[in-house]
Amino acid sequence: MILNDTIVAPATPTGGAIAIVRIEGSGAIALSDSIFRSPRGPIAEMAGYTAAYGIIHDGDRRIDDVILTLFRAPHSYTGGDMVEIACHGSAYIVGEIVRLAVEKGARAASAGEFTKRAFLAGKMDLSQAEAVADIIAADSKASLTMADTQLRGRYSHSLAHLRGELLRLAALLELELDFSEEDVEFADRGELTTLLATIDQQLTSLAASFGTGNAIKRGVAVAIVGAPNVGKSTLLNRIVGEERAMVSDIAGTTRDSIEESVAIDGVRFRFIDTAGLHQTDDRLESMGIERTHKAVEQAQVVVEMFEREGEDFIALGEGQHLVRVINKCDREGTTVPEGWVGISAKYDQGIDGLLKAIRQCVDTNDIMRGEAVVSNSRHYEALIRAREALSQATESLEMGISTDLVAQDIREVLSIIGEITGEVTSTDILTEIFSKFCIGK
Ligand code: GDP
Repeated sequence: MILNDTIVAPATPTGGAIAIVRIEGSGAIALSDSIFRSPRGPIAEMAGYTAAYGIIHDGDRRIDDVILTLFRAPHSYTGGDMVEIACHGSAYIVGEIVRLAVEKGARAASAGEFTKRAFLAGKMDLSQAEAVADIIAADSKASLTMADTQLRGRYSHSLAHLRGELLRLAALLELELDFSEEDVEFADRGELTTLLATIDQQLTSLAASFGTGNAIKRGVAVAIVGAPNVGKSTLLNRIVGEERAMVSDIAGTTRDSIEESVAIDGVRFRFIDTAGLHQTDDRLESMGIERTHKAVEQAQVVVEMFEREGEDFIALGEGQHLVRVINKCDREGTTVPEGWVGISAKYDQGIDGLLKAIRQCVDTNDIMRGEAVVSNSRHYEALIRAREALSQATESLEMGISTDLVAQDIREVLSIIGEITGEVTSTDILTEIFSKFCIGK
């Protein structure tokens, strides 16, 4: 299903000095020639990868001076003819160019339609197309590196390769079925077992990377917890460098959870200041405390704040990290136990050490080295299902049950891995994925 009708959309958000309108499809060049005039002559005579200065006009009415860049099929992002018009960043001008293009027969592009066309034209696989959205949303060095690795097909290519191998063996298995009377074996069972084990290893390591990958993509959640008045809000203000959380001497001031995001050494952290943990009869405050427990459950890092050494009041879940902090170290006689971090939130002491301790809870070595890390929950969910199907296939093979059942199990594995790379897909899945993109992407 390759659509090549002509589509148009702004590719930049409003508010910038320059805006870009994209026109793509079989009629992109002729259509653009009907609204663009350049001393260089018609676009139809321009070579691909060239730009021309000219004006966008609506008949006699001049709309804007622009630079038009031409990409000729198949050497474009989408694989089709594409024109990018860089105009002045006025929402009105952009609207006029889009309106003119539509008047001349273009269709307003739906969300993600350019990238969807690139996928359908075989320019990229599905996981690479999804990485385009991640690149645009990237807000830290780590999340960009991760998206870039995915865009370059770091794991989808190796999954596609393993899938190809498995497909070959599945075809041989199925061939045996055609000769079922003759007791022949075309598919080497040893090779099949080894291949299944290799795929299982890869699926397992990819699935294991999701915890970190997803946290980094969404921002690593850090819950700051402690008794009322221990200085949680003061610390949050100190970290984000502005008066965001309300600070007061009245216990229970922070009734709601407040969240601020800060990048530390290439990773984005979401700090959550929470209501103090203590017994209360105040209904509003108890709701805040309940939210604190929720915030703690969902955090990757929990910062427990004390004024002096005390018992932990948080039971950590799997994969959570704890940083114990003594605040108000500016006070005479405050001691900090070994392995704890001493700070004065109010007088800005020890904050760098605390940020370092928090940053160390997240291991980004794999990501920064460009290792494959899964951050997409659709991929994660498919990896888990693929592993289940794989263990079923391995079990069937080991038990020596009939070839047709083994072949069926393997088909299931092939189908699920194909969902990640987009070799197996449905209109529904594509619609769901690309609807989350912006217009013009
Ligand atoms: P929260 O209830 O845990 O959010 O505590 P707040 O941040 O509202 O602080 C409670 C009180 O402790 C305020 O009066 C702060 O000024 C004070 N405070 C916070 N941090 C420090 C610190 O490092 N040293 C001293 N001496 N006082 C602090």
